[in-house]
Amino acid sequence: MTNPVGVLSLQGDFREHLQVFERLGIPAIAVKRRAELDSVSGLVLPGGESTTIGKLARIFDLFNPIVDAIQGGLPVFGTCAGLIMLADQITDGIVGQETFGGLDVVVQRNAFGNQLDSFEVDLPFQGIAEHVHAAFIRAPLITEVGPAASVVASLEDGRVVGVVQGNRLGISFHPEVTGEDRIHRYFYDALVCA
Ligand code: GLN
Repeated sequence: MTNPVGVLSLQGDFREHLQVFERLGIPAIAVKRRAELDSVSGLVLPGGESTTIGKLARIFDLFNPIVDAIQGGLPVFGTCAGLIMLADQITDGIVGQETFGGLDVVVQRNAFGNQLDSFEVDLPFQGIAEHVHAAFIRAPLITEVGPAASVVASLEDGRVVGVVQGNRLGISFHPEVTGEDRIHRYFYDALVCA
């Protein structure tokens, strides 16, 4: 029996992520403390506000432990703000904004501008399905993909919205708000239990 997966629960839509795992019958716990982080088999970084998640991670003494856990091989899955937190480099961040890093990508915050800042679309997701339902909410874009990362999801016009790098997965959108549970299933089966 593997340990439960964790959902970083400092800010954002962590409850929705916990509910996805509950629907899937996958044991999951909220991570707010170091001891909880040390007990999980994988970690989800939820959507929300990346600047706040970063600051709270510092305040709760979780920032460096999360960086170390990722570098030490803990499987991670970031959605939206969580993707921003996993990017090795970001653009349009606030001054001094920090990320945990782990994905060899450049991510642009709030890349869709005001008019189209929220929308839903079906898109192909490599290894999962031809039609995965994706909700974008003030979403970031992956503007550069380095050699260590591979594209798993793009919009029709080619803009990259999902990458995988070993056992690290980052996507621009929010499967957890629309009942699109297959990406969490994939994270658990292919990256946590692999
Ligand atoms: N715009 C947010 C940020 O910069 C991300 C939005 C989201 O997670 N839905 O962190």
